[in-house]
Amino acid sequence: MPGEQPQDRRYIKLNTNENPYPPSPQVVLAIKNAAEGDLRRYPDPSARELRQKAAEVYGVPPEQIIAGNGSDDLLSILFRVCVEGGAPRQVAYPVPTYSLYDTLAAIQGAPPTTVPFPADFALPIEALVAADARVTIVCNPNSPSGTAVPVSDIAALAERTSGLVVVDEAYVDFARESALSLLGTCSNVLVLRTFSKSFSLAGMRVGLGFARREIIDELNKVKDSYNLNRVSLLAAQAALEDLPWMNVNVARVRAARETLSAELLSLGFLVLPSAANFIFAKCPRLSGKDVYTKLRERGILVRHFAAPLLSEGVRITVGSPEENAALVDALRAILAVPEVAAPAAG
Ligand code: PMP
Repeated sequence: MPGEQPQDRRYIKLNTNENPYPPSPQVVLAIKNAAEGDLRRYPDPSARELRQKAAEVYGVPPEQIIAGNGSDDLLSILFRVCVEGGAPRQVAYPVPTYSLYDTLAAIQGAPPTTVPFPADFALPIEALVAADARVTIVCNPNSPSGTAVPVSDIAALAERTSGLVVVDEAYVDFARESALSLLGTCSNVLVLRTFSKSFSLAGMRVGLGFARREIIDELNKVKDSYNLNRVSLLAAQAALEDLPWMNVNVARVRAARETLSAELLSLGFLVLPSAANFIFAKCPRLSGKDVYTKLRERGILVRHFAAPLLSEGVRITVGSPEENAALVDALRAILAVPEVAAPAAG
């Protein structure tokens, strides 16, 4: 189930990990130009120019890249290609994680092997190797925990499993390191990226997949011919041409993440260390559901998951400094914590 998307602007929306800042003006210009361009024509089914640009930016040859209508599209293609209904050991992943994996496994009729993360959210390598699945998915940084595992652990997993290791890097620009560095050495790694978070383009629906050529060729056989429209293709390309814009926004979000984490801690929350653009936090005095409901009453949307391990907390997207301040004020009011007086000057 995707997070709520209210169609009015009544809420401060900190529930679906969108970027608080707009995309690059160059992207907006590219979209305007695309709208005035050849919309009567079908788009390029191979997304050649976007893949070429991505090849330059990420140092991966264009034949090793596939473009999707969001990374959700790529995940759906992946499951259709690699996960066979009714057969054992098809797909494994550590949990809790991104709930779409469960949905896609259910659609394929392939019950997943889910391996619980330990309390510190380290990668459970032994258990994943033992699961011996055709496809092992590691969401890194993980959602909704926000935690990240070292890429060296993913390499260790990939070396010890014969199946495909999919690294879902939707949030990686907010983290320290990417598994793209493994593509040269681990032939069974597929890395998924999205333009929805760091590039502020959730509304455009663009994702990229990176792997060795044979894997990309198999995925291409299943994708819709025109899975990306002309406007999205040009928008994503323009986004890659203005990396400084993205990097500045990512730096602002990271700084705000540290401030917000510290504020939540000072309000008594238990906060998981985040390498993403959101924070998973548990309130020792209220259930996750109550925090969610009371914030909602005050016009602030955060995400609550009813699943085991998650229901005690909420996932909070890092917003702009103003949005985060409004969130902290609301939490203070809900918990009846008085504001700490500013230290006297001098
Ligand atoms: N993977 C993870 C872990 C996500 O949180 C999301 C966003 N909900 C996606 C993939 C999909 O991103 P998109 O389809 O917007 O590219």
